[in-house]
Amino acid sequence: MLVKFLGGVREVGRSAIYLADGDRRFLLDAGVMLSGREVKYPMHIPPREVDEIIITHAHLDHIGAAPIFFIGLGRESFLTKLTAPLAKLILLDFIRVSKGTLPFEVLEVDRFIEKSEKLEYGQEISRNGFKLMFLQAGHTPGGGQVLLEFKGKRILYTGDINTVETTLLKGAFTDYPPIDVAIVESTYANKNHPLREEIERKFVEKLKEVVERKGIVLVPAFGIGRSQEVITILAKYSFPYDVYYDGMARAVTQILFDFPDWLSNPNLLEEAAEEVIWVNTQRQREEALKNPGVIVTPAGMLQGGPVNFYLKKVGDSKKNLIAFVSYQVEGTPGRILLEKGVITVDGKFVKAKSEIRHFELSSHSGKDQLEKLIKKINADKTFIVHGEPENCERLAKYAREELELEAFAPKLGESYTI
Ligand SMILES: [Zn+2]
Ligand SMILES: [Zn+2]
Repeated sequence: MLVKFLGGVREVGRSAIYLADGDRRFLLDAGVMLSGREVKYPMHIPPREVDEIIITHAHLDHIGAAPIFFIGLGRESFLTKLTAPLAKLILLDFIRVSKGTLPFEVLEVDRFIEKSEKLEYGQEISRNGFKLMFLQAGHTPGGGQVLLEFKGKRILYTGDINTVETTLLKGAFTDYPPIDVAIVESTYANKNHPLREEIERKFVEKLKEVVERKGIVLVPAFGIGRSQEVITILAKYSFPYDVYYDGMARAVTQILFDFPDWLSNPNLLEEAAEEVIWVNTQRQREEALKNPGVIVTPAGMLQGGPVNFYLKKVGDSKKNLIAFVSYQVEGTPGRILLEKGVITVDGKFVKAKSEIRHFELSSHSGKDQLEKLIKKINADKTFIVHGEPENCERLAKYAREELELEAFAPKLGESYTI
């Protein structure tokens, strides 16, 4: 069997892994990378050479290129029941904000999502000589690890994974059966996260402090997952001030209400959703900027979305705070602001006067957790993906030297026989 890494290796973004053995050919994820205004795709693979598309979760770095494989044709695809509506939402939004520059349209998104096989966690499906199951990944609502059995081999692809429970999601399922080949992410292979509760408390305290000094807090957060987590944290600690909730996060929250069993604490989300002020109009956006309070809005790395409306204004006063709550990919406006204190507005750079902080409310496992994870998986062959080059190498080296596993940090376009 051949495994070829088409993207998302030694980088975070455009995840795509090709797995083939004669009569059956799989694509595990088909993502894009958004760096600046440019959209980067995985290495080319002719759509006719792919039979099955398996998607781990509804983040663009895992799903943004999937509709390309539905241009002019239908094919089998697999995702979880909750990933399906979220995927549709995020892909239609991607088309809208890209203003006709993508190589696919609404038709392809519909074709992809409508016909897809939508699975529960732990539900096994048998098809064309392979078996497939999604396991809870703990990273984002609906997100699944892929367990694929094919030609006598059991392959585990973690996708993005978090083994720790959060206010929104249960931790990843890790009671794996024996695994032959593992493909594991490494976003935070160099870093341990502080205890979740500790970060939550610091986050809430900081937000209170800023509002009490009459400042505005802007929390750029992914529409799927992170935004809901932020409002549930604020509800958990009974945050007493106004919280404005903007962007795609609204529609996502409505979808999540239909999937209470997929969340760690659905009641808390309902409570949180009742407390926030839902922003629906431009006038409300302007309103949100008039008084001290918190604004939670996508995009998490400042790549478009309503956050751009707020950014310049919030960044313009030292009373205010821009509070990042997720990983900032190299080259994104979020990373530039975090590292250089510079806001990118309409292609121009403006020095931020506000305070800028990063809170590690990560939805990816940290260093020790990843190390424990690959030890537990204990596969005959382990491939480390989805991390900056040093992180992929570091975790592969750990697996080789400390666990004596056969482990690799593949390069873009590399193929292996498994
Ligand atoms: Zn993700
Ligand atoms: Zn990812």
